[in-house]
Amino acid sequence: MGAIEKALFGFIDKAVEKAKKRTLPSHLEDDGLLYCDICGAPIQCRQEILGKEMILPCICKCEKAENDRKKEEERQAEIANNIIRLRAACFDSAEMRKWRFDADDGKQEETSKISKNFVKNFDKLKADGRGLLFFGDVGTGKTFQAACIANGLIDLNLSVRMTTIARIVNDLQGSLSGRNEYFDKLCRYELLILDDLDAERNTEFVNEVIFEVVDGRHQSGKPLIVTTNLTRKEMLMAQDKNKKRIYSRILERCYPVNVIGIDRRKASLASDFAEMKKLLEG
Ligand SMILES: [Zn+2]
Repeated sequence: MGAIEKALFGFIDKAVEKAKKRTLPSHLEDDGLLYCDICGAPIQCRQEILGKEMILPCICKCEKAENDRKKEEERQAEIANNIIRLRAACFDSAEMRKWRFDADDGKQEETSKISKNFVKNFDKLKADGRGLLFFGDVGTGKTFQAACIANGLIDLNLSVRMTTIARIVNDLQGSLSGRNEYFDKLCRYELLILDDLDAERNTEFVNEVIFEVVDGRHQSGKPLIVTTNLTRKEMLMAQDKNKKRIYSRILERCYPVNVIGIDRRKASLASDFAEMKKLLEG
């Protein structure tokens, strides 16, 4: 047998094997061929191949639909698995995986609206490399809002990394692989969130790291979200040359959102004590 014949019969064998996996009901008719019980179409045909009559399998429309359904099911399962991986890789703290818009207490109505719209319009914002700058006092829920955005985008199967400069500095100091690869990886995420900027030590090395991260996102045209306790004015008026170049890149691409409102930590403390008061003073 020549190579072409061999390939042809190999192909036929595969088709026959595949046809055996059919799960939809079928029946044999008088002509000796199998027919689909559902649509009535033949699922076999006689064909002369190299002078020899053979019975070959064919696919009816129900089997085609069934195959498409299985493929779609596999695709959805793959996406679901990917989403689990993306969420595990996004946050430094597992707790944040649960921070979602539906857990929002609604006390930051304006900010929540902006955050939800950021997720909704991410495609357009991403194309222009546009991000957000959440600023405001300690405990106003900036980190919560940013984590909700991260989870919302991960639900859409997009890669997000939410971290702090302190963590990045730590990773770089402990990393065996190259610094460049580390920064390249940070640039590959569809969205990077730097939480609590300016809470870190103010050293030349740290400032260099911040600049490299912020500038990397800027250069790659990818969005960045920053949360900070600094005011926008403090960022605009920064005198320090290193800080100035960092802030100017952030202010250029990140839409400022002033997160005001009650101190969440104090409020939660108060309700903790309310529980305790009930328990203790009954
Ligand atoms: Zn059929």
